[in-house]
Amino acid sequence: MLQDTTITLAIELLLLAAAVGAFVLLFSRYLRRADTQPLELLADDLLFANAPCAVVLSDAHDKIVDVNHAYERLTGRQRQDVIGMPIGYNHSGQMDEEAYADMREALRRTDRWDGEFWLRNAGGEAFSDKVSRIAVRDTAGDLCGFLTISLDMLGNEDERRLMLWQAHHDTLTKLPNRNLFFERLTRVLMKERQGAGGALISVDLDNFKIVNDSIGAAKGDQLLTQAAFRIALCARETDTVARLAGDHFMVLMEDCSDYAALEQVAREIVDQVSLPFVVDDRELFVTASVGISVYPEDGSDGGELMQKADAARLQAKRSGGNNIAFFESAMNARAERRLEIESELRKAVHDDQFELHFQPVIDLRDGSVSGAEALVRWRHPEKGLVSPGEFIPVAEETGIINELGAWVVRDARRKLVEHQDILRGLRISVNVSAAQLKTEQAISDLIAVLAEEGCDGLTVELTESALIADRDGVQTFLEQIRLLGCRTSLDDFGTGFSSLSYLRDFRFDVLKIDKSFIDRLANTQDYGLVASIISMGRILGMDVVAEGVEEDTQVQRLRQIGCDYVQGFYYSKPLPFAEFIAFLRQERLKRTA
Ligand code: C2E
Ligand code: CA
Ligand code: CA
Repeated sequence: MLQDTTITLAIELLLLAAAVGAFVLLFSRYLRRADTQPLELLADDLLFANAPCAVVLSDAHDKIVDVNHAYERLTGRQRQDVIGMPIGYNHSGQMDEEAYADMREALRRTDRWDGEFWLRNAGGEAFSDKVSRIAVRDTAGDLCGFLTISLDMLGNEDERRLMLWQAHHDTLTKLPNRNLFFERLTRVLMKERQGAGGALISVDLDNFKIVNDSIGAAKGDQLLTQAAFRIALCARETDTVARLAGDHFMVLMEDCSDYAALEQVAREIVDQVSLPFVVDDRELFVTASVGISVYPEDGSDGGELMQKADAARLQAKRSGGNNIAFFESAMNARAERRLEIESELRKAVHDDQFELHFQPVIDLRDGSVSGAEALVRWRHPEKGLVSPGEFIPVAEETGIINELGAWVVRDARRKLVEHQDILRGLRISVNVSAAQLKTEQAISDLIAVLAEEGCDGLTVELTESALIADRDGVQTFLEQIRLLGCRTSLDDFGTGFSSLSYLRDFRFDVLKIDKSFIDRLANTQDYGLVASIISMGRILGMDVVAEGVEEDTQVQRLRQIGCDYVQGFYYSKPLPFAEFIAFLRQERLKRTA
């Protein structure tokens, strides 16, 4: 028999070459060489214990005989706790009886099955695991059991994280790299239908090449690291600062449609970079050229926006460097449009031009309507119905949002009271934006409105951006409105930091998974992610709502992973109030029929 260490080494090498199939082959070859009791021999083998991927040995009835260290790491469960359990003890119910039957049949016929198991780890999170299963037979050919090998090669979570991190970051400055930057940009632009607007700031150092040549690459790297740090300090915590190449950096500023603020950040970058750098006790001087493109005015495509930011940067460089430039005249167009909307908005508040539309939320367990999200619309005297994407950002910048927000709460509550015959038991949620929680005064005004109108049946939706602003202030706001009987909901989960600590600290009643995740449910990895978010939400006692559901296949998948509530065009668009009532009546009629 080969020495254990030799086999282990050979396997490690094979794995490094990503030869998963070869690993399976090696294991099975090894099986056939074993004589009397293959299962015990295998379990005692060092190779089994130390294999870098999770391996399970089960008997002919598929009861677990042994698992290895990688399995313990992957599932978070101890070996002694799982021995004797049926192999499917931690399966999360994704595989139906028919699929199990197919698997048994394949194993019976060919002694091998390749497929995917859906598992739950010790924390209850679901994840998928590609596996290869091999039937273990003794020399007489009788079945002794099964060997299940996880093809998830890096059973080690830390290694997997590291690899993921390296694929997305620049190792020198630790900033996101071009891949990650482009990914984020694309995601942000997808959401841009909501219209908050933003900008790309392209930065490069004017005379870096000359400096680098004179001081050498190692010191040049030190300078770059310091420059990266300064640029990152100029940006807000929520912005993405990336190093795209050499001395080329790019900043993505989301939700920033205020030109003055943009210009200030860009100038700050130029100023910071122009301060002396100290590398090995030597003072070095460089300057920066900065170009800015803004969306949606300059385009809605990531590549195009990056090109435009770069073009503006070149213009700044051509004018001598140490300077900033906006791409063409987008700035004027936007500023004019803003001013126009602002004055019209002020009038709209007085003339009562707003109305709420209601998008039903469906309880997947019985198909009933469990409530609705109230979404504001502006009935403009000339332009007709204007969507919030166009005016909420302006309302936020100008503070008009506070008045508008109060109106939304009043109107929603009034509808609940006036139509309680049909709306009883339903939950209506209203959106409260971060801008409404900016000052203590605004917070206490909003609480006063909620107290005055009553909170029965009302849920307040906040996004993560509201939580960052002023943790304590928001925490108090949430506590107070809960005391008034208001439910709280975390909106657009998955687009911000998706922070577990927020979920734990703020104790929301409802978690809304953002549409961008629902759109990618067909992707196995994202499917697993949504499944974990759902189970995490449940563990924390939250109702989980999937947003932006548009297709039947999405509904099926969400049902499979235990999502209870859904909302989206598949069921209904946001409806004017009268139509929402008609929708409710019809749904109830259907269900009683
Ligand atoms: P949100 O809170 O994430 O609201 C969901 C948005 O997604 C709504 O857009 C809704 O019409 C849209 N949506 C729902 N299902 C689907 C779907 O299946 N496919 C697609 N493509 N879209 C879907 P809407 O009404 O344009 O609202 C946009 C945003 O404006 C809201 O995003 C919210 O952040 C803000 N907003 C709306 N009403 C208010 C309000 O009264 N106050 C505040 N502060 N913000 C509001
Ligand atoms: Ca919402
Ligand atoms: Ca949302």
